[in-house]
Amino acid sequence: MANVIGIDVGGTNLRVGVFEGHQLIQETRFQADFSHICHTHSPSQAWEKIISITSTGIRNVLVQFPDVQHIGMGFPGFIDPNTQTVAQSPNFPGLDHVNLAQDLGEVLQKKVIVENDALAAAYGEYCLAGKPDTGLIYIGLGTGLGGGLIHAGRPFAGQHGVAMEVGHIIVEPNGRPCGCGNNGCVEQYASASGVATSYHTLSGQRLSAYEIAQRADDGDALALEAYRQAAIYLAQMLATVVKVVDVPNIVVGGGMCHAWHLMKTAFDIQLETDLIPVLRGKLSVTPSHTHDIAGMLGAAQLALLHNTHLS
Ligand SMILES: [Zn+2]
Repeated sequence: MANVIGIDVGGTNLRVGVFEGHQLIQETRFQADFSHICHTHSPSQAWEKIISITSTGIRNVLVQFPDVQHIGMGFPGFIDPNTQTVAQSPNFPGLDHVNLAQDLGEVLQKKVIVENDALAAAYGEYCLAGKPDTGLIYIGLGTGLGGGLIHAGRPFAGQHGVAMEVGHIIVEPNGRPCGCGNNGCVEQYASASGVATSYHTLSGQRLSAYEIAQRADDGDALALEAYRQAAIYLAQMLATVVKVVDVPNIVVGGGMCHAWHLMKTAFDIQLETDLIPVLRGKLSVTPSHTHDIAGMLGAAQLALLHNTHLS
């Protein structure tokens, strides 16, 4: 079985995984603060840097695995399913209508496919769950908040690549400003950056979500409150999503799912309250147990799926 590369682009790093089937045989992480680059350079300069950093990272891996033919990438942004271009990336401002798949493919001289990062992770979780007939909803709690739906065995991206952009569902009218241009999006409350903002509002201290989780574990009431608020907003959003798509399998992943124990009680109560009564008790919401490899695996599997459909 030939090896396939799956890449997960995060807010601060780039993870390149080499897979044999579902098995991760090597992971390489690169420091890649694309968000900072986008905030400090013109869009064209930022794009040049991003392509350069990404292609250099992948080349280093390809030296060890020269037989790799397929490369899939999960990227945080709205990916147009027809053109594979990044239509917009709220976390990487200025990257509008850039052709990531084409530009990277030309530099690497390999076929590259690009998918929204949360949708790639959704497909990875779906593969690891044995491809359940009911489909799967994935919620990624990282720097931002992403979502993905697998329906009828395939990622559901919608006509413009914004299906399941659940992080931008508004839960607080006129609330915190969001990178997408609106206010009060759930991402601004129930993500790592959202928790950090909540804790700053409550305590006046600026800490990372990880540090706040440590404080919460030590009994810090304000840290617990920041995570409780995140859990409530997350449950409100998810109850809305389930009313739209009625998919019972929900996996919560991303770096912040390590703090799920701080959110679970408030989340469960709010979700049951907000669900349509007929759905109460019928959903499976579980934190990911895949050690955060779903994004890379899904990207790799989607590269294979895409190729299968072309051939
Ligand atoms: Zn938003």
